[in-house]
Amino acid sequence: MCLVFLLPFLLTIKFNDENIENNKKIENKANSDNQEIEHIVYDYGAYKTIKVQMEDGSIVDMNLDEYLLGVVSAEMPAEYDIEALKAQAVVARTYTLYTIIHSNKHGDGIICTSSSCCQAWLSKEDRMNKWDEEVREANWNKIEEAVYSTSGEVIEYNGEVIDAFFHANSGGKTEVPINVWGGTDYPYLQAVETSGEDGYTQYSSENIVSKTELEKIIKEKYNDFSIDWNDNPIEIKEYTDSNRVKTIKIGNKNLSGVEVRTLFNLKSANFICRVESNNIKFLVKGYGHGVGLSQTGADSMAKSGASYKDIINHFYANVQIVSL
Ligand SMILES: [Zn+2]
Repeated sequence: MCLVFLLPFLLTIKFNDENIENNKKIENKANSDNQEIEHIVYDYGAYKTIKVQMEDGSIVDMNLDEYLLGVVSAEMPAEYDIEALKAQAVVARTYTLYTIIHSNKHGDGIICTSSSCCQAWLSKEDRMNKWDEEVREANWNKIEEAVYSTSGEVIEYNGEVIDAFFHANSGGKTEVPINVWGGTDYPYLQAVETSGEDGYTQYSSENIVSKTELEKIIKEKYNDFSIDWNDNPIEIKEYTDSNRVKTIKIGNKNLSGVEVRTLFNLKSANFICRVESNNIKFLVKGYGHGVGLSQTGADSMAKSGASYKDIINHFYANVQIVSL
């Protein structure tokens, strides 16, 4: 009886939240407060415990899945669909293993808690404190479900753990690694399209830089830089296949889109720019480098009925999801 009356009330709150939060698309399962999550202690063999380097430099030994609770909860909003969170859990587990196997940047198999270096991580206490009290339990249960229901699962290509890059919003189409970092491409990281990413706040942003500021920033890097604001000062010369800026001429310099993204702190290399009186306005699509899984794309797919396996197979080509 209670439920019959409560349910419409809960739904009303959720729809209001959705309006207020501007397309965060909250869709917590009504019963998630009472959900019992099975805590599977998966035997990861050699990867049972991993050494995590904290912000203060100290190193903490953690069980792999216990570490992943902190990663998934820090990297993806708990409001996202459970299938998107499960995809994130498998991707984060894969990224972690790849780092342990291939990277030495923090010494012997150590991963750090910085999102710009390795993967973001939050302790349960810090994570809980950042959530509103009324959603804490339900959110944490979803994170546990995402990690423990996929325990042991990683993504492989030709029998090897992949380098599972991910980012916030692809702007509609993901990017190949060569256009971001140079080097060589990976067969499993192709440019793919996803619909629905324009429904998220990360999809569009703008940066305004004054002409003086722009000149100063570029001159700091290239001291022979010059620009005539009256003679075709800025021109995009070439785009990548995924519509990001490949080459842009600013004054007497040809710069890459990725370089301009870094110089002017743009959310992605998918941008156009306009000179408006004393300013340059950058209109940016997407958020992040654009390689691999798009988190908002994953949520959008999940909300249209895709499973976490569908999501992983969409963003990574010809891969297998295997149990370690
Ligand atoms: Zn790191």
